[in-house]
Amino acid sequence: MKRITFILWLTVIIFSGCKTKEKNDNPFLNEKYETPFEVPPFETIKSSYFMPAYLKGFEEQKKAINTIINNPEEPTFINTIKALEYSDELLTRVSRVFGLLNSANTNDTLQALNKEIAPLVSKHRDDITLNDSLFQRVKSVFNNKEKFTLTEEEKKVLDETYKDFIRSGAALSPEDKDKLRKINEELSLLSVQFGQNLLAETNGFKLILENPEDLSGLPEGIRAQAATMAKSMDMDGKWVFTIQVPSMTPFLQYSDRRDLREKLFTWYFMKGDNDNANDNKAIIARMTKLRVERSRLLGYRSYADYVLEKNMAKTPERVVDFLKQVWDAAIPVAKAEAAAQQELINMEGGKFKLEPWDWWYYTEKIKKQKYDLSDEATRPYFKIDNVMEGMFYVANRLYGLNFNKRNDIPKYHPDVVTFEVTRDNKHVGVLMIDNYPRPSKRGGAWCGAYRSQCRDIDGKMINPIVSMVTNSSTPTADKPALLTSMEAETLFHEFGHALHQLLSNSNYPSVSGTSVPRDFVELPSQIMEHWVLEPEVLKVYAKHYQTGEVIPAEIVDKLNNSGKFNTGFTTVEFLAAALLDMDYHTLTEPLDLDIRAFEKQSLDKYGLIPEIKPRYRSTYFNHIWAGGYASGYYSYYWSEMLDADAFQAFKETGDIFNKEVAARFEKEILSKGGTRDPLEMYIAFRGKEPGVDALLINRGLK
Ligand SMILES: [Zn+2]
Repeated sequence: MKRITFILWLTVIIFSGCKTKEKNDNPFLNEKYETPFEVPPFETIKSSYFMPAYLKGFEEQKKAINTIINNPEEPTFINTIKALEYSDELLTRVSRVFGLLNSANTNDTLQALNKEIAPLVSKHRDDITLNDSLFQRVKSVFNNKEKFTLTEEEKKVLDETYKDFIRSGAALSPEDKDKLRKINEELSLLSVQFGQNLLAETNGFKLILENPEDLSGLPEGIRAQAATMAKSMDMDGKWVFTIQVPSMTPFLQYSDRRDLREKLFTWYFMKGDNDNANDNKAIIARMTKLRVERSRLLGYRSYADYVLEKNMAKTPERVVDFLKQVWDAAIPVAKAEAAAQQELINMEGGKFKLEPWDWWYYTEKIKKQKYDLSDEATRPYFKIDNVMEGMFYVANRLYGLNFNKRNDIPKYHPDVVTFEVTRDNKHVGVLMIDNYPRPSKRGGAWCGAYRSQCRDIDGKMINPIVSMVTNSSTPTADKPALLTSMEAETLFHEFGHALHQLLSNSNYPSVSGTSVPRDFVELPSQIMEHWVLEPEVLKVYAKHYQTGEVIPAEIVDKLNNSGKFNTGFTTVEFLAAALLDMDYHTLTEPLDLDIRAFEKQSLDKYGLIPEIKPRYRSTYFNHIWAGGYASGYYSYYWSEMLDADAFQAFKETGDIFNKEVAARFEKEILSKGGTRDPLEMYIAFRGKEPGVDALLINRGLK
């Protein structure tokens, strides 16, 4: 439910009214932050400030809602929907900071607080959506909408608000409302526990190597990273590999030690499934059951039916059908890739069957034979600062944006670099980028906003404060951070989300920025990935970190040709996870699942080959248990269907920086946020609906 669930996360309004309040030590409780661009004053924020700010935030919103309910006038859009829309200023302000810090820079105190706060937030949310007097007013406005003169955006806000009340149980009997409340509270606690177990498991396994012979096959750069890692853990002179992806993947790619590859990768894919204190199986079983119960209570067949109603795809059948179309094209390709690897193993006299921990190693070898191109050969051209310059260049060519580095803006960690974004010398927003892994940061990459663009209740523009977080390769003692081309792509991806926030131009907070359905939200991010390896862009940023030499055309060709290499694997490992997600969430009965058996059955059903593990196994599938992507993991590929097709709109003009197409993309997609139906927005940009073909061609599957 977008409006209320995410209102606590995704919306921020700063009121300009009520002057001269006494200044509070707790910055959340002040009218605004006394910092450049009102960026949260991270350096002065203490953990102890969060709880009082949340409590005050709950109180303020309750007060605002009582004012709405007790208004003697007839319910109108302004006195009900708009008033509700602007009722959570403080709560949003604190929850944005708390939520983003808990992902990017957490500690035991914040984690403990999260456990305390999550159920309070869930209860507060239920107090609003299950408040009958409030619902009756919303319903009255909805039923009488013809009486009010509303803009298209206001109509959307009204529809979404009403739908969200219904979807969160506003029309249920008092007993059922109670049941729903209990389920919501338990689910939110389980989510938090899942994430914390996962973090503990990820930090819990380290491959510590003491003998240089254990490093056989590893390139110098990878050894140096492992030595730096060891040093940071007070193990000078040793080498450490973790099961964080940037540390693990190069080991799997290059290590000649099959036994160590097996050890490391097994730790990775057994995360949360070790029958220890951090095991996630019971949590998942319980969550699956509760989600079925919840959906049935609300009148839906399954959790997927409930979720997808709000998405562009609309039904589970369409999603599964879409995924299977891609699966059928990809599985023969993956099988051929496995066969080629087995052939190489046999040729080398290896008397074993290809296993999942061998895949990266033999893929790398075949890639080297075929393209003679390794990640290590391209890394020198992808210095992280250069890659960022490249993405800024693209945004400048397309949208006229400028990025000016600032050192006077508060940051929550020394790794953060901050930019003021301008256009035609006018302030657009603030962008913070935080690139390196650390134990306090969860894995993966994401983009969020400390404040989203919108207009305040008086119509005054609020500029966004955006945060981009990745877990990229780190600098070593003698080298700057040098990325793989995949990591460069990830940076461009998150930057696409950032542009969606930065170029948002809506009025109401609940429909601003990235507040769009899950299967649409990756369009702005994934379309950016298309520029990263375009020769025209590479020549601007892909310069050797020592010599400044532009990446040679020969390497560019190889990069482009090899881009579709291993496509069977990447597609299948993704789809296996996406189908697993759908299998959990199309259950129509609240069963007591045996998670290992259920997962196996699901993957066998589609014919996943044993050499490939799903990109996420159940016990570390953070997206669907704690990340808000339940029955939504397919969204990345659904969005890819959109972005592959949308990028064609640039290509077809013969100019990847075509100003007109860029202007239309900004006008119809980026600036619109969630103010319009996604399919309508897409057609307004492209003139037609997308099909699966562009995606298959894009992945080299057709
Ligand atoms: Zn994304």
